[in-house]
Amino acid sequence: MPPGNFVGVDPAAEVAALRADTSGAEPASSEAFDVVVLGGGLAGLCAAHRLAKRGVKRVVLLEAADAIGGNARSGGDCPLGAGYVPVPSRRSKLHEFAQLLKELGVTRRDVCRAPVERLYLRAEERWQRAMPANFDVAPFGTSADRAEQRRFRGKIEAFATRRGRDGRFAFVLPVAACSRDPTICELDKESAADWLAAHGFRTAALRWYVDYCLRDDYGTAARDCSAWVMLHYFCARGRETLYTWPDGLGHVAEALAARLAKAGVDVRTRAPALRCVARAGGVAVTYAAGGGAPVLREVTAAHAVCALPRYAAAALLDSPEAAGPPLAYAPWVVSNLRVAAPPAGTAWDNVAYDAAAADGAPAANGDLSRASLGFVVSTHQRRFRGNCLDALRRPRPAVLTLYAAFADGDPDAQRAALAARSREDLAAAAVAEVARSHPGAPSAVRAVDVRVLPRAMAKPAPGFLERVFGATAAPRSALGGALVFAHTDMSLPLVEEAHFWGATAADAVCRARGDAGAVFRLNTPARALVQTDAQEELALATPTL
Ligand SMILES: Cc1cc2nc3c(=O)[nH]c(=O)nc-3n(C[C@H](O)[C@H](O)[C@H](O)COP(=O)(O)OP(=O)(O)OC[C@H]3O[C@@H](n4cnc5c(N)ncnc54)[C@H](O)[C@@H]3O)c2cc1C
Repeated sequence: MPPGNFVGVDPAAEVAALRADTSGAEPASSEAFDVVVLGGGLAGLCAAHRLAKRGVKRVVLLEAADAIGGNARSGGDCPLGAGYVPVPSRRSKLHEFAQLLKELGVTRRDVCRAPVERLYLRAEERWQRAMPANFDVAPFGTSADRAEQRRFRGKIEAFATRRGRDGRFAFVLPVAACSRDPTICELDKESAADWLAAHGFRTAALRWYVDYCLRDDYGTAARDCSAWVMLHYFCARGRETLYTWPDGLGHVAEALAARLAKAGVDVRTRAPALRCVARAGGVAVTYAAGGGAPVLREVTAAHAVCALPRYAAAALLDSPEAAGPPLAYAPWVVSNLRVAAPPAGTAWDNVAYDAAAADGAPAANGDLSRASLGFVVSTHQRRFRGNCLDALRRPRPAVLTLYAAFADGDPDAQRAALAARSREDLAAAAVAEVARSHPGAPSAVRAVDVRVLPRAMAKPAPGFLERVFGATAAPRSALGGALVFAHTDMSLPLVEEAHFWGATAADAVCRARGDAGAVFRLNTPARALVQTDAQEELALATPTL
């Protein structure tokens, strides 16, 4: 098996072990800051960036891993997690997010180049271009398929422009801006699969397609996912026009980290927070410094932003329930196959159509092939120097990033099965998966890096809205208001949500410090920053692969 790196630490287990090892020990030092940010994923980075922009000087960010980025971590020339973000739509309330992208230097040049996607028909053993707005090709080719597709499109169009009695759009980003009209929120009581069945959507192709999208964005099968979340996906996001980079959203994480370094934010990696308590009207955080043999250190601050997943936040607090009710997390595996040259005919996203998956045929735990969502050619967005056409003609080393979401069955059993597999074993499974549609690919593979994410995403099951808008919603703060929560576990696992929760947590801290101007604007983005009318209409009409 080709060589490669492995990133597979379960942060929850690591923090639990460190806490046990250091129990009873006192911190060797204590430093005072104005604000401590816990977690260096996109939410924590966005919070620290906003604090720095609003003039907060002494900010420290503690990250458990050896690099920032969390689920959007960069692997240098490839993603180790999240891959893309759609260009904000005109209907969204993503003005502030669109501004951030502009500030980070994101431009039209970062829009994914054609060909964006293609589909492998397993039964026919052939690839086809799944063109936008085109469900008229196999496997969507029968008249029943076309009729259902038109009907589905009609429903999505109606929902996308629908407003609740509170005047808000039913489905928009960020989730916090969505209507809370009970007649719309009712859609959250049933699963996406039940909603499709109740509305007479029966063709295998459409059911597969919806199921695929929900696994791909939320690590959740249609039968386990809220129907509200499914409609939100198609109405509020879509992915017709998207930004992506060779290292996926790691590009955005690294751009944020560069801004933090410039602003003097003290970012500490290999610094897992172990305990967070109220102290003198603020917080005291004990963390393990430097990896290896841990040395306990303490930081104190008047305010903390907790951008940790809920299970990690609960482990920090003396009252774990203050972090909100526990959530079920789906594991994921991201494998980067370094190949001498990409297989012929690839698009950026390369997906396999498998009708059996939508019918819920059971799969063994840890089965990477059944969990596979296809592969992205990460090097697709590489920028060429010199003669671009020459560069395109010459085959060049490429990276194929294979995503696998272990959406089925019991997440604990899936985690246990994955924990029992070595990098070599998972790498071999990843190569075999790509070889199913490209038999010649294994001979081109030079190395395979594997990242296991044991708790990658909180599943948005029916009842999801209750944990966002309802009585079981996690509190926004703890420790007498000194600690504000910011992680995407508060809503959906999307970069737009990470920005919303990080930025609004930073604003809450700034207001508590007397900065009345710190207000997040839930406006539609300025025209220059959004999809064009034509792009948006297309996106709305046809959710593509
Ligand atoms: C494989 C994969 C693909 C995805 N693809 C996309 C995509 O294409 N587009 C998209 O919009 N979204 C995507 N997502 C979702 C997106 O990555 C997340 O929603 C977003 O990155 C979450 O950011 P976050 O800061 O809320 O959380 P996280 O990324 O979970 O960050 C939390 C951070 O806290 C750290 N941490 C944990 N415990 C401690 C502790 N005790 N002390 C200190 N630090 C700690 C973690 O190491 C981590 O860095 C994807 C997710 C995965 C897993």
